[in-house]
Amino acid sequence: METNVPGVHEVPGMSRCYVVDGDQGVTLIDTGMPRRAGKVAEVLARIGRSITDVNTIAITHSHPDHVGNAAALKIAAQAVVLASPADSPAIRGETPTTPPPLFGRLPFLRPLFRLVPKAAPVDVDRMIDETSAAGLPEDLRVIDTPGHTPGHVSYLLDRAGGVLFAGDAAVATRNGEIKRGYFNAPLDAIDESIRHVAEFDFEVAFFAHSPGIERGARAAFQRFVEVLDD
Ligand SMILES: [Zn+2]
Repeated sequence: METNVPGVHEVPGMSRCYVVDGDQGVTLIDTGMPRRAGKVAEVLARIGRSITDVNTIAITHSHPDHVGNAAALKIAAQAVVLASPADSPAIRGETPTTPPPLFGRLPFLRPLFRLVPKAAPVDVDRMIDETSAAGLPEDLRVIDTPGHTPGHVSYLLDRAGGVLFAGDAAVATRNGEIKRGYFNAPLDAIDESIRHVAEFDFEVAFFAHSPGIERGARAAFQRFVEVLDD
């Protein structure tokens, strides 16, 4: 689906992921639910690109609806996979994935998390975080947004006044207001991460589980922070 940012395309689904078309090739921000690599290929075909044009797969966190097609796409594209040090062991399949925070609080939700199909493990080629983003295209930077998982990161694209890819750190309501991401409990880490995001400059924000905010996205984050501070 088209977005209002040139070269940024949404791959629709229960967990949205994003195609960033740039001078240095195509970057994927997350990869969607398992067994949906075809959806990514469809979007690439529509913009005149193909899987082999993908050279970077930037993961926000270890949950299977984000890592779902990373293994298949990495092989098909010969792409480099980037993720945070804290979430990489789960992405590699070395440790179990940390369930979202609310599942810890409400144990009856846990079976729901197990219903999400497992993602095939994939090797992480490069560890990235806010202090070290080597391997990402020059116009993309990392914002550390732990809370939803221990190593959740967001990405900020230097285009169109700044484009935030928030993953599951937050969602937007239909009115363009910010809320905590689904299954995010009101934990300090989650709210701190939203505060931290609001310190950066960006105009647009995209999320995995809600429509994006096309204008004034930072202001929406700041309004959420004001409510927290009240
Ligand atoms: Zn998640």
